[in-house]
Amino acid sequence: MIFDILTIFPDLLESPLNESIIRRAKEAELIRIGITNIRDFATDKHSMTDDRPFGGGEGMVMKPEPLTAALHSVTTQNGPGRVVLLSPQGRRYNQQVAKDLSREKHLILICGRYEGVDERFREASVDDELSIGDYILTGGELAAMVIIDSVTRLLPGVLGCTDSADKDTFSRQLLKHPQFTRPREFDGAAIPEILLSGDHEKIAQYRFLESVRRTMERRPDLLQKEFFSKAEVKLLKKYQLYGKVKSLQTRQ
Ligand code: SAM
Repeated sequence: MIFDILTIFPDLLESPLNESIIRRAKEAELIRIGITNIRDFATDKHSMTDDRPFGGGEGMVMKPEPLTAALHSVTTQNGPGRVVLLSPQGRRYNQQVAKDLSREKHLILICGRYEGVDERFREASVDDELSIGDYILTGGELAAMVIIDSVTRLLPGVLGCTDSADKDTFSRQLLKHPQFTRPREFDGAAIPEILLSGDHEKIAQYRFLESVRRTMERRPDLLQKEFFSKAEVKLLKKYQLYGKVKSLQTRQ
């Protein structure tokens, strides 16, 4: 998969995109990341990529010409792609959107700055606007990194343990169960005995029930969208959780 990022602060992106899983995915040629400096496409002598808003008011607005020329340059080089503008006004990014994006061949991420981008560029060139949450960042670069990180880990072959993305929180509408590692006892707190039993089925059941309990406690809104298999329903009934789950599902 190809990610192209259009930004006026390319240095901001270097280190996070050259470590850990992203670096390995690049080395394995599972992804390619291009960083394009929008400033290289400014045409005036001061390399201006922003200007004052028509009608007055605070801040600066990113000019349409350098953005359009930068976009044209990456599509000429890497072919057409889905053009995503990072924006607090976009639809909310979540795991489902990450899954959808992971099916694309080429994602072009446009990082806004200042007061955002000229509306005419947005209308003419943007396929999708995404927000990573209801807060204002200084620029789209952190949001672009969030998207690249979360999409990359969903691509086949990227994670060492093939099923670990499938069992993450949000792969279903459930939070992941609590996790424990060595030592067996820490500060007087022991790990749940069942995890030492070696009984994989019992451990899976314990984890499933903990996952449901945790979701009920912390994110009951998620359960509204969750479906359970017959075996899971049986287990939830056995531990008197089914009624609680159902009442949460009907209340929302
Ligand atoms: N004036 C804009 C508004 O009120 O909608 C906010 C501009 S913000 C300071 C500058 C840039 O940061 C935006 O153009 C966008 O690219 C990025 N940005 C800010 N918050 C974001 C968010 N929650 N999700 C994605 N991108 C965001």
